[in-house]
Amino acid sequence: MAQRVLITAGASGIGLAMARAFEAAGAEVWIADADAAALGAVSDLRGSHVDVSDEDQVAALFAAIAEIWGGLDVLCANAGTAGPTALIEDQPLDGWNACLGVTLGGAFLSAKYAAPMMKAAGAGAMIFTSSTAGQYGFPNRAPYAAAKWGVNGLMKTVAMELGPYGIRANAICPGPVEGPRMDGVIDREAAAKGVSPEAIRAGYVAGSSMRSFVTGADVAAMAVFLASPAARLVSGQIIAVDGHTENPDPKP
Ligand code: NAD
Repeated sequence: MAQRVLITAGASGIGLAMARAFEAAGAEVWIADADAAALGAVSDLRGSHVDVSDEDQVAALFAAIAEIWGGLDVLCANAGTAGPTALIEDQPLDGWNACLGVTLGGAFLSAKYAAPMMKAAGAGAMIFTSSTAGQYGFPNRAPYAAAKWGVNGLMKTVAMELGPYGIRANAICPGPVEGPRMDGVIDREAAAKGVSPEAIRAGYVAGSSMRSFVTGADVAAMAVFLASPAARLVSGQIIAVDGHTENPDPKP
């Protein structure tokens, strides 16, 4: 039977790259996303309009999955928002709460509702999209870094609780991924520091041993591996797909 894979924030960016990679591997894919227009643009995929930080919406999503699929083999808890860019003393509480609510709260709710379904089947794989910010910290991005450290802790705990039921959990930590999200992050960081976007961009590239931005496909390939039988004893791991972070913050 084809793997049944749910991907949150699957209508664009890394999540859409995951959706396409799982499709190519023969899986059945269901994406959940808060952006109706983005969902509409990928209407060939089964999709639901869901804000992952809203428990009622997440509960309704999993009820629909139970009804239509009868179970879930793979959860890609991928949704996360960048949060405000500011020094800690300037971080607004509402921005902190909003970032934590989606990035950590959304991962929590997705795992909470996937767990009983996977436990009933005695199998499953949860893959959390974390970040290198969750390994090193991230100047000017305290809410985001704190949320991603939280995602790693959530993943470790879920792996311990669910391992005895045949369920694995892992976190992928992408380095900076090419695309509109990173362009926005770079522009905001440049404005906050009073330097050019080009200087910030060059700093991101210089931060990895491989001197490269990451692509969504790089991250998706790791997710497909982690969901596969080849990874049957890989659980509780924080795995960077970042070209090896050599210096977490070489930027001006
Ligand atoms: P993105 O900003 O391109 O957004 C992807 C999708 O997330 C969008 O379609 C958006 O509608 C959806 N989304 C936003 N809030 C949502 C919510 N509350 N509920 C459901 N969907 C929501 O993001 P991306 O760059 O593809 O990032 C995906 C994940 O990867 C995030 O967790 C992010 O933190 C992480 N990440 C990204 C990078 C990067 O450089 N882009 C690096 C490391 C980690």
